[in-house]
Amino acid sequence: MSVNKKLYEGKAKVIYSTEDPDILLADFKDDATAFNAQKKGTITGKGVINCIISAKLFAELEKVGVKTHYINSVSPNQMLVRAVKIVPLEVVVRNIAAGSLCQQTGLALGTVLKVPLVDFYYKKDELGDPLLTSDRITLLELATPEQVEAITHLALQINQFLIGFFRQCDITLVDFKLEFGMDSQQQILLADEISPDTCRLWDISTQDDSNRRVLDKDRFRKDLGNVEDAYQEVLQRVLKAVENQQ
Ligand code: UDP
Repeated sequence: MSVNKKLYEGKAKVIYSTEDPDILLADFKDDATAFNAQKKGTITGKGVINCIISAKLFAELEKVGVKTHYINSVSPNQMLVRAVKIVPLEVVVRNIAAGSLCQQTGLALGTVLKVPLVDFYYKKDELGDPLLTSDRITLLELATPEQVEAITHLALQINQFLIGFFRQCDITLVDFKLEFGMDSQQQILLADEISPDTCRLWDISTQDDSNRRVLDKDRFRKDLGNVEDAYQEVLQRVLKAVENQQ
């Protein structure tokens, strides 16, 4: 598959067109940003690690009936994906209180939520990705109420799968962010990536609530050190869990 032109460069990935208009190439970068790109850096090996983790998780999700944009991997940090029109929503699923939920509600870090919480944010850097309500989503015509309902259902289904998968990796899935897109047949596909950049992942066996348990981008956000090691650790555990499932 020959790669044509660069269509879009985001914070973590570059998207290229291919000879097939329905297929794009996603190239995962080592660049890391946080706090709406106010903090910038590089995590060596991140592009490869996040591409492999995302590919494995998309493939596992497909096996349980979740439709994703993933087609196949073409190099360690590149995958072919189905072209979709991204719904401009960041869909965050939370099992345990952390990050902005704690800041905005006063809930203590680590509070286990009785039921998973699905939060929608407006994917718009200029506005700082604000929290939305269902009515605001309808007002701004970001998605129809039916699409919001379908996306919520999918997000919760994906959460149930990922909780179990990461448990096999001795990892607690605290929260994560998903993006969805519409394909040419108006089907909703899971898009973007699922990786330590987009999930909060805590080592299960580190019982104290210190930062030692953190295996995700919070190590970069909060300058906790050993960022590459944490990402590598997640990759190794994911690969082992996938191997054990076969
Ligand atoms: N997240 C993300 N991209 C964003 C914002 C959040 O991938 O632009 C992920 C983040 O890594 C975490 C979850 O979504 O796993 C919830 O993030 P939160 O709303 O708590 O925001 P944060 O504290 O990261 O600013």
